[in-house]
Amino acid sequence: MNSIALELLQSVFGYSSFRGQQQAVVDHLSDGGDALVLMPTGGGKSLCYQIPALLRQGTGIVVSPLIALMQDQVDALREAGVAAAFLNSSLSAEDQREVERQLLAGELNLLYVAPERLLTGRFLAQLERTEVALFAIDEAHCVSQWGHDFRPEYRELAILHQRFPAVPRIALTATADPRTRDEIVERLSLQQARQFVSSFDRPNIGYRVGLRHNAKRQLGEFLLGHQGESGIVYCLSRRKVDDTAQWLAESGIEALPYHAGLDAATRVQNQKRFLREEGVVMVATVAFGMGIDKPDVRFVAHLDLPRSIEGYYQETGRAGRDGLPAEAWMIYGLSDVVTMSQMIAQSESADERKRVERQKLESLLAYAEATGCRRELLLGAFGETYPGSCGHCDNCIAPPKTWDATVPAQKALSAVYRTGQRFGSGHVIDVLRGEETERVRSLDHHRLSTFGIGAEMDEKQWRSVFRQLLAAGLLEADAEGYGTLRLTAASRSVLSGGQLVKLREDARPERGSRRRRDSKLITGDKSSGGSLGIEAYEQPMWDELRALRTQLARQHGVPPYVVFHDATLLAMLRALPANEDELATISGVGEAKLKRYGRDFLAVINAAE
Ligand code: ADP
Ligand code: ZN
Repeated sequence: MNSIALELLQSVFGYSSFRGQQQAVVDHLSDGGDALVLMPTGGGKSLCYQIPALLRQGTGIVVSPLIALMQDQVDALREAGVAAAFLNSSLSAEDQREVERQLLAGELNLLYVAPERLLTGRFLAQLERTEVALFAIDEAHCVSQWGHDFRPEYRELAILHQRFPAVPRIALTATADPRTRDEIVERLSLQQARQFVSSFDRPNIGYRVGLRHNAKRQLGEFLLGHQGESGIVYCLSRRKVDDTAQWLAESGIEALPYHAGLDAATRVQNQKRFLREEGVVMVATVAFGMGIDKPDVRFVAHLDLPRSIEGYYQETGRAGRDGLPAEAWMIYGLSDVVTMSQMIAQSESADERKRVERQKLESLLAYAEATGCRRELLLGAFGETYPGSCGHCDNCIAPPKTWDATVPAQKALSAVYRTGQRFGSGHVIDVLRGEETERVRSLDHHRLSTFGIGAEMDEKQWRSVFRQLLAAGLLEADAEGYGTLRLTAASRSVLSGGQLVKLREDARPERGSRRRRDSKLITGDKSSGGSLGIEAYEQPMWDELRALRTQLARQHGVPPYVVFHDATLLAMLRALPANEDELATISGVGEAKLKRYGRDFLAVINAAE
């Protein structure tokens, strides 16, 4: 069994070996077992069911919630010479009948269907008349009511187990948290399934978080390190999306907006361009991204705080699915915390839900303000222990210095307390600094004992202290969302002197230290050739390979990455294969693609010599 699976991996997909748990999953499923697979985005989930579907008799039925995605997946399989098709509402009635005929005739290795289609009595009856190799339930977290991607039809998929008890089932997801996992098992009747849980680490993604001073300038500098690369820029509001996309476009960057306020046709068009063209930057709200499995997204930037660590990890996880270097970059400020608190407060959710949302915001802030390895924190949020010192996040590359801020923290907390826990940071800072503003005078706050006790630090430094106190849970923004600050249970031990407070050095009175460090990181990004490290002398050949790929993709009506991934193109660039035998050894070049594209790529490579 093993050797056939490996042979298929090599001949059909052009890969030399299985990754991580793929082999174990493939063997288990091929032997008829049920499986629950938890693997991060880009981990290689698809092969876990595609190869068993080829190995077993009959057709593998893949349930996928995303119509837009089916087309690409089926295109990619067909390019590799696999008999694949999809059934969904985007097909004409005639095309649907043809696919059904192929299914009943046993001509298909893999058939992708939307859940609502699968559940129709008609389709289930058809399945009973065919041989089903396996059921794969992709994006299985859609059964979870708590997630963002809840799909009620997913819950009815348990019916597959009742109607087809002998057919192995595999559920797959990149959502890591244990609650969702339990819900999948329960809802899909997968109690007997073997669980394959991979590490959720994405070693090829580097993480950076910075303070926002001037979002546009900072984004511009960041993008200098990613010229010509595809990426996503997330913003909180639709207006900011439009604004940022327009500004980028005016600066000569291929940027497109995406949010729920755009009409459907524009959204489809922009998404298509992002998928089909090289180097498009999508500026979007979180409405964009679910099911985008474009492998060569080289960066994900957040201009505002995301909603939760889970959301952040999912969003940043869209970078670097192909395993090549990618970057997750975020800037944020104190105002985000206020805005987020307001959004939570003003939402229609029940109080219990709001409490959960606030907790989520707090752990996200703790991540943003962290001084230790960010990867360790991220994985910790999913219950995974990571030893730290990843060497590939900003804090590992340039460890931030901390300073003893116990006294300023005490001053800040008592000023919040003395002013009645009814004000935002702006007013409290005025009081601390001894500013006799009209408001201060009208409230008689210049008579408070805390008035002027913090004059030694400027407003910016105080803002930094308040931001970090919020992040550390030593202050909280009010639940009603007016931006007012209150003490927390944890504040007490700071006020009583029982707890030291260490803050990041950016709050230190000396100026400039942070700026120096930031600019060092930015110049570090500017290494030649962006993320992939293409050297100047390689650039002409790289451009030619990419141009050929784009041209072939157009001819075949598929996205460029369906022809070859960047990883495969990069391997060609480095190995410069001289003939078909050498080309066949490149990872990602299977038999079908060798036959179809080999000659064209060899022509480009050989012409250069
Ligand atoms: P997921 O669905 O888990 O996000 P995919 O199945 O799309 O991931 O795979 C991610 C990328 O890794 C794809 O480009 C895929 O072709 C590639 N890949 C998967 N398995 C292997 C392997 N064994 N060797 C090399 N590349 C692989
Ligand atoms: Zn690290």
